[in-house]
This record gives sequence, structure tokens and C-alpha cells, in this order.
Amino acid sequence: MTWKISNSELSQQDLLNMESIFALGNGYLGVRGNFEEGYGADMTSIRGTYLNAFHDVIEIPYGEKLFAFPDTQQKLVNNIDAQTILIYLGDEEEPFRLDQGTITAHERNLHMDKGYAERMVQWRSPAGKEIKLTFRRLVSFTRRELFAIHVRMEPVNYNGPVRVVSTVNGKVTNYTNANDPRVGAGHAERMTVVDTGIQGGIGYIVDETMASKLRAACAAQHNLDVDADVQLEDGAGQITCTATFSLTQPVSLTKYNIYTDNLRHGEAIVEQGLKLQETLRSVSFEDLLAEQAKYLQDYWKSADVIIENDAQLQEGIRFNLFQLLQSAGRDEHSNISAKGLSGEGYEGHYFWDTEIYMFPVFLMTQPDIARQLLLYRYSALDQARARAREMGHKQGALFPWRTIAGTECSSFFPSGTAQYHISADIAYSYIQYYLAEQDKGFLLSYGAEVLIETARLWAEIGHYYNGAFHIDEVTGPDEYTCCVNNNYYTNVMAKHNLKWAAKSCAILRDYNAAGFKALCVRLGVTEEEMTTWSKAADAMLLPYDEALGINPQDDTFLRKAVWDFDNTPKEKYPLLLHYHPLTIYRYQVCKQADTVLAHFLLEDEQSEETIKRSYDYYEGITTHDSSLSSCIFSIMASKIGNMEKAYRYFIETARLDLDNTHGNTKDGLHMANMGGTWMSIVYGFAGMRLKESGLSLTPAIPQDWQKYAFRLNFRGRLIGVSIDRENVTLELIEGEAIEMKLYNEEVRLEPGQMVKRSLL
Ligand code: BGC
Repeated sequence: MTWKISNSELSQQDLLNMESIFALGNGYLGVRGNFEEGYGADMTSIRGTYLNAFHDVIEIPYGEKLFAFPDTQQKLVNNIDAQTILIYLGDEEEPFRLDQGTITAHERNLHMDKGYAERMVQWRSPAGKEIKLTFRRLVSFTRRELFAIHVRMEPVNYNGPVRVVSTVNGKVTNYTNANDPRVGAGHAERMTVVDTGIQGGIGYIVDETMASKLRAACAAQHNLDVDADVQLEDGAGQITCTATFSLTQPVSLTKYNIYTDNLRHGEAIVEQGLKLQETLRSVSFEDLLAEQAKYLQDYWKSADVIIENDAQLQEGIRFNLFQLLQSAGRDEHSNISAKGLSGEGYEGHYFWDTEIYMFPVFLMTQPDIARQLLLYRYSALDQARARAREMGHKQGALFPWRTIAGTECSSFFPSGTAQYHISADIAYSYIQYYLAEQDKGFLLSYGAEVLIETARLWAEIGHYYNGAFHIDEVTGPDEYTCCVNNNYYTNVMAKHNLKWAAKSCAILRDYNAAGFKALCVRLGVTEEEMTTWSKAADAMLLPYDEALGINPQDDTFLRKAVWDFDNTPKEKYPLLLHYHPLTIYRYQVCKQADTVLAHFLLEDEQSEETIKRSYDYYEGITTHDSSLSSCIFSIMASKIGNMEKAYRYFIETARLDLDNTHGNTKDGLHMANMGGTWMSIVYGFAGMRLKESGLSLTPAIPQDWQKYAFRLNFRGRLIGVSIDRENVTLELIEGEAIEMKLYNEEVRLEPGQMVKRSLL
């Protein structure tokens, strides 16, 4: 049961949310869970198909544009729509539509173990013709360009003529909402149809974006298992396949849609699409289902988390892990957008969400995808260098706060560009990758360069004052406090970045002296420069308040008045939708974890007591208006031994989208939070850490649970971790013997052996 998400509600709100929840994707192509036949005229739907990174460029309108504000931004475009299949019954051509006639049965499921969605509808037309329809659809993990739909039509009381009209429509628009900064504001129309045609029974459409001039093609092939009169037409920006037949026994239609684009397929996108269609000629939908199931079996082998005796949470964690897999880009053009490929919220942009919230899941379950995510950032390093110059920095690389193609897309700099910490976050993920995989070759080819260029940024923007290294005028993760000096999070992450730039040089010097020398020559790195990084790291100011015994979020944070929480009614949250930013900035109020997050990522920088006191302090002033917050509070509650709180915060993350607790699931899923659910379990309850000293666990179990289990894909080993109320059991499922720490004690895992310890 917990492998399946079911929802058969047909209310407006449910349908919109389900469009995101039933979205299918494979990291390249994503399709929202829209109904093939469409909706009634009074229904709102966000009909969407997306190719990761496929974007248009739009001008950013400013009232007052200042120096180095980005002129343009990228926007993920809604792509060619191949979802439509209309079904007409009888000579009077009654259309199958859920807003007319009678629904006698309806069921909708998303199969997370098999990777497909299905919808069963039994429907009686206004004139009394009853049929049963089963729609199944998948976006293939093994054939990245393919989105397939299978419709089975069965007579119930109706035998007679049926006409099926299936279209591929190039006239598509984006969804907009001028009142919500989390949704794109304008620019609905970004694509025009530039070519259409039919070849060998396959119809295709080519669309081009208005400004970026990127091209995408969708080529569609239809297979029907009954004798029918089939017409393929090309006109008015769409391909229309019409099939007329007599429905006397079950009939199935399979629609294979192949999406290609000139980011990945060169300029001959139609030819490439047609070629891929040829490979499908003898592949049935059942074959595709089998391939999909096999792929997912492999995924779940390393990624599944088991929570015994709690079906709701079990469903939640699996759903989140499934959607992460569906969303992660697997090439140098793409990453994971804040909403994955499930919607248009945040315009398809990639943020720090990837490195801090989602990368860790892949690192410990699917390291190949983690590596790919790092390579995406590497491919944008030159743009980050250029941005640093534009921002007036003589050296280093400044990664954009939000982007698709590598340039800065944020127009509101206080909670955009000013979040310089993204550069340290990216550096942090490279360091984590090194700690996990110990891949010195990767460090030499990619990692060190990123670490060096980001370290240079800190060396450039920081300065010494009274002997300490200060970083001024930045914004930390908490977007309710902007443009401050010495944000604790930024400073401690920059310190780590600087330290590791120097350390990676030392590692590489030993590993491959000639390769390291070549790198230094190419980047102009000298021994003196390395010393300046270490010196700045050692002198980094990490603000500390003696009176409270906590790390202040920044230099002036604790001087501000505390927000009047008692007199802020529920409906005024999230604050960003109800108060001017300046009002918010004037108070001690946090949108999300900031210092508390720093204490998680770099816990050895402060004493346990400081971390605990900081947790208590910031918890009291954090609204969790961002979905990136609860998981961090959960992890840190586990760390400070408050399992009850850890569990409460965890619950908020686990079903955030399934229960639409933030109210905006319709715009797409909250991907960072989804990573956060896994982190709350693995880093939180199980206390996993990855440091220079190796991999370690300090497991505990929430009061309400009897048992939970997960796996770690670590240095070519698959390690099973299972925790019940008495014991923790480790098992080396695959790979050679390895050592790790359990409650600070070294344990050696041998193939086929279990290590069992009492829970502390
Ligand atoms: C959060 C940011 C996050 C962005 C995209 C904002 O609401 O404050 O931290 O990067 O959403 O998810």
C-alpha cells in the first residue's frame, strides 16, 4: 500500500495539487498530472510539460535599475503539450468529460515502485453510454526522451462507434500569478511553433523560444490494437491523430511522445526524434513498464527508507524520494529546480537548495547523480567568475543565487545576489563528495578549481579588522534579515571553504605533483596565496554573544526588537506576503534556519552547549515560512537530544506536499523539503555524519516508532542500517569490508556479517 499514492478527489483544489503530485519525470523531461481530456470551462488547470533547463530569456523590468543588476533572467518554459487525448462516443459524438455525464467509478494511483501513474474512470455519458477507461502514463528513466500514454477503452453498456482525437500541441503558454513572488509574474507566451510535419506515420512539432531561440521538438507515434480508420493531420500548430473504430471489446491506444531539444541533441532535433521513434516500433507499453520497474528496483535497493507501522509516514518518505529521483538533472545543462519538474514555481530556477538539501540524499544513495550535480556547477564556473568581476571583485567566482543557464536571475538583490553563501554551499558539497568518495582524480579535475575560485571570493570580499577576518554586507539563508555584516552562517561556511581550498592543494600535491602544478599554473595559484586562505580561515570572525552564550545571526541581529509574534494572526503568515521587507528586516524574526543550519553543517565549530542554547533561542523567533526550515530544526533537535521535537518537525516535512500544508503545492513540489525528510531521518534520528574522520552514526529512535531502516551507498559499498527500540544493526550488503564509527566506537563491517549494538 505504501508504494502507491492514491487520490480520487475531483474538487478544484485537489485536482490542481494532484497535477503536481502525480507529475512524472526523469530529470530531463517532466509532465504534470493533467487529465488527457481536459477539464470543464470553469476549472483552473496548470497544464505543463517541461524539459529541464530548457528556458527562455526575459528582460527584468526595474523601476530603478542600478549597476550590475541583471538585465535578463531565464525562465523554464512550458513545452509542447502531448497530453491531450479526446474520446467521443456514438454518432452524436458525445465527448468523454468528467464535468458532464455521471462518474460511476474513479481511481487514481501513482506507483512509486513501478514508476507510472494510472487513472481508472467508469463513466456514463448524458445519453447513458457507459464505458470504462484506464489511462496509464510514464516518463521513462531508461529512454530519457520518452513520455508514453496508454489508454484502454472498455465497453460497459455501450457498443458502437468511437472517435479518438489525440493531439500534440505547439501553442503553449506559461502559468503566471502577479501577486505571488514565488510564481512567475508575467511572460506567459514564450514559445512559437516553427515547424510541423508528418513522416512515416509520425507527426512532429518544433517550437522555438522567443528570445533564447532554443528549439524543442516533440514527435508522436500512435499504436492502436484494433482495425481503425486513422488520419494524421498537421495544421494550426498541432498534430492531430484521429482514429475511428467500433468499440465492441477492449481497445488500447498507445501514444509515444519523444522530446528532443537543441541543448542536448544538436540541431537535427526532428531527425533525432524520428530516429528514437523507430527504436520504439516494436516496443509495447508493457515492455516500457517492465524496463521502468527494473530501473526503480535498482533505485529503491539503495534509496528506500522503511518506517515500520506508520503507513502515512512511509508513504511520505517514499513519495519524497521518488520525486527527488524524478527531478534531478543528469547532464551539464541541468540541475534540480526548486520545484523539480513538477511545476513552474520559482520559474524553474536552481538555488542552494540543491547543494544543502538534495545533494546529500544523492551522495549517500546515488553517488553518480551527485557527481553529475557537481559537474553542472563546474560547467557554470566561468560565468561565476564573470559575475564576480561584474560585482567588482578582482578575483574569485560568485555563483548566482538563482539560475538555469549559469547567470544571475535574481532581481531582488537583498534576498538574491546578496546570498553570497551559495558559493560556500557549492564548495561544501564538493568537500562532502570528496569525503564520501575520496576521489582525488575528481578533486584534481574539478573540485579543487571550484574550491580555489570560491575561496578567492572570500579572500576578496572579506577584510581584517582588529585582527579578525570580517565579511560585510551579505545575506545569510534567513531571508527575513538582509544585507548584514558577519552573518555567522556565511562566515563559518566561508571559513570551511578557505580551509579546504588550502587543504585540497595539499592533498593534490601529494597525489599528483605534476597535475597539481599544472592546475596552479593554469589558475595562477601561488604558495603565498594558499597561505592567505589558511590565515583568513583561522582569523575568521564567528560572532559570539557572551551574555546569551549563543552565536548571533550577525553583528546587529541581537540588538533588534523581537517580532511581535503574539499579535501576529495566523493569516499573516508567511510574513513575506503581508509585510514590506523593511518592516521584517527591522526585527528579530527568521524565515528559516540560519545559525541553526550552520551548527548542523559545521557542528565542530562550536561547543554542544552553544549549539543547544542557539537552538532554543532561534527556535523562538523562527516562523518556518520557508519549507527549508523544519527539517533542519528536526535534525538539530535530534542532535541536542530532544526526540519529541525532532519528531514533530519531521512530521511537518514528511507529507508537506501530499497534505499541501504550505498551500502552494499546485505550483510544484517543495524539492528541498523532500531532501530534508530523508536528512531528518538519516542525519537526524540516526545521527549520520561524514567528516574527515570518516562515516559515523549515533542512532536514536522516535518514541512512536518500533523500527526504521535505510541504506547508505558509500565508497562502493551498500550498508544496511536498521534501528529498533533496543538495537542498531549494521549490515554490509554489497562491497568489501569497511570501517565506520558507531557511537564513537570503531566498527568493522565484513561481507555477510551483521554488527549489532544496543541503542544508547
Ligand atoms: C527560501 C530560499 C530557497 C528558495 C527556493 C525561499 O523561500 O527562503 O532559501 O532557496 O525559497 O526554494
